[in-house]
Amino acid sequence: MLDDVDLLVCGAGPVGCVVAERAATVLGWKVLVVDRRPHVAGNCHDSHAANGVLVHNYGPHYFRTDDEQLLRYLSRFADFVPANYEVRSQVRGELYPFPINLTTLERFFGRSLDTASAERLLAERRLPIANPTNSEEYVLSRVGRELYEAFYLNYTLKQWGVHPRALDPQVCGRVPVRLDRDARYVGHRFQVMPNGGFTKLFVRMLNHRNVRTLLNCDFSEVRTLIRPRRATVYCGPIDAYFDNRLGQLPYRSLRFDFVSHETEWRQPCVQINYPNDYGYTRSVEIKHVTGQRHPETVVSYETPTAEGEPFYPVPRRESAALYARYRELAEAETARNRVYFCGRLAQYRYFNTDEVIQEALACFQTIRRRCAAAPPA
Ligand code: UDP
Repeated sequence: MLDDVDLLVCGAGPVGCVVAERAATVLGWKVLVVDRRPHVAGNCHDSHAANGVLVHNYGPHYFRTDDEQLLRYLSRFADFVPANYEVRSQVRGELYPFPINLTTLERFFGRSLDTASAERLLAERRLPIANPTNSEEYVLSRVGRELYEAFYLNYTLKQWGVHPRALDPQVCGRVPVRLDRDARYVGHRFQVMPNGGFTKLFVRMLNHRNVRTLLNCDFSEVRTLIRPRRATVYCGPIDAYFDNRLGQLPYRSLRFDFVSHETEWRQPCVQINYPNDYGYTRSVEIKHVTGQRHPETVVSYETPTAEGEPFYPVPRRESAALYARYRELAEAETARNRVYFCGRLAQYRYFNTDEVIQEALACFQTIRRRCAAAPPA
């Protein structure tokens, strides 16, 4: 088994599953996927709680994309159902639509508004910062201090354990500000969920006669034993691949507490954010968007932590500089040993699920091109 591998894939998350499926289907390669966890789907993993409610074990994954072709590809492995990603933020004991929209502004400032008057109201409050260099400046330049302090400052402190001033502008820049009544969390064309869950989708993806999957298996257990004939795709933390030889990259971790309720619904929408209350950042009742109908429910409470599994790369200048040095090592490793680094941890970059799948498809095309030009090892 170990000497019959064209492609070795470390990580059975979205990237690993997509690259494995493509290599097996398109090129007929023999693929071995290893993952140290006892399940596939990486952080997209979902499972049924004791009461039968489908939950996202590692936090909510709201699938959205503008890429119709990508959705068509994924639809080979699952049916997709429409999903309504609606989030509210609890501020001063009240639930406001979040991202900030016209309704949020009306209720927060206690006056009725239309798009033009809301624009004037924000124009009076925005700080004149032409080129924000961090998340605090970014938000101040978009909405001013009152909204920043009510909705962003403490949430970001809790989420990242550092001040928004220490984070790149795109951290808070992920969240839009709207001057209409659109209450959806994101504006993408397709907002859908795989019917039956992500894990089912990725299990189907790996269900190919050329693909073998080894769970509960750390990459370190196989990296010296297996010499794949064509390539390796590594989706783990880039610093760990190189034994942290340049120092450890910072990651933010999360703890999830799941609470079951013998009632059909517990909260009015899928996610409630708590910028200024509690130790957790948000409560998620994922049943709102999975399409499951069930008489009971489960709510998860998400608490950011410094220690634990690496979830988020920390987007700030110092970590980008350290990552750039690891990136150089990775490029040499690709050239020398055909090891490709792909995914959130391997590229030290925050990707949404659709984006990371696009990365995986691009990685597969690169491997395919290079391997067509070079004989197998
Ligand atoms: N954020 C915030 N208040 C909120 C929600 C988000 O300040 O109510 C900031 C926070 O820094 C967060 C970032 O915006 O890390 C991106 O939010 P998003 O909801 O996209 O985070 P994710 O769901 O990816 O963790």
